[in-house]
Amino acid sequence: MALSDSLERIRAAERLAGRPAGSVTLIAVSKVQPVDRVVAALEAGQRIFGENYVQEAQGKWPGLRARFADVSVHMIGPLQTNKAKPAVELFAAIHTVDRPSLAEKLARLAEARGACPDIFIQVNTGAEPQKAGLLPEAVDGFVADCRALALPVVGLMCIPPEGDDSRPHFRMLAGMARRNGLAGLSMGMSGDFEAAIAEGATHVRIGSAIFGARMPGQRGA
Ligand SMILES: *Cc1c(COP(=O)(O)O)cnc(C)c1O
Repeated sequence: MALSDSLERIRAAERLAGRPAGSVTLIAVSKVQPVDRVVAALEAGQRIFGENYVQEAQGKWPGLRARFADVSVHMIGPLQTNKAKPAVELFAAIHTVDRPSLAEKLARLAEARGACPDIFIQVNTGAEPQKAGLLPEAVDGFVADCRALALPVVGLMCIPPEGDDSRPHFRMLAGMARRNGLAGLSMGMSGDFEAAIAEGATHVRIGSAIFGARMPGQRGA
């Protein structure tokens, strides 16, 4: 099935890059997919999923978690500050922290809760005006600010511009992570995850290659 194909391709890319087997975590991106496809992936053993919308995740995952043990769901879509509270309660990781107001809100919620999802900082490596994420030159300062807020920053995330070769963007993100002492690299989607693994990805976010095309008219990234 498509899930095992993706896993095999991940393991092959790890080998090719001389990286240990299992060093790359697969996040199966289940946004806007019919629930039976998600259940099939759960039955095949997949336990880490990515969602883009808080409301959709709130509707889908409490029920599935009651049926399947040890599931974790990662937030990979833009997060509105007014959805931060349910996000902190629902997600094991948030990959899209990209502004001080959100970081401050998450820090307050984490303090009150005594726990916080793992935090990835999203970087707009292509400096696209319409895209979320910090501009590359703002990353070092923002990482320091998040650490000062005691947020558990584990890595960086990017979505390269459509139509560009992704690889230089992945390499840039890896360099920024290295100089900030961050081990996590959330990069690589269905079309480019092997290149991302070659450049050091620790988390790949794969949707359509596992679940098939999303329904037409449904929002993508
Ligand atoms: C939808 C989405 C993905 C998965 O995209 P595919 O091309 O279907 O693999 C990965 N990352 C983000 C941020 C997304 O929004």
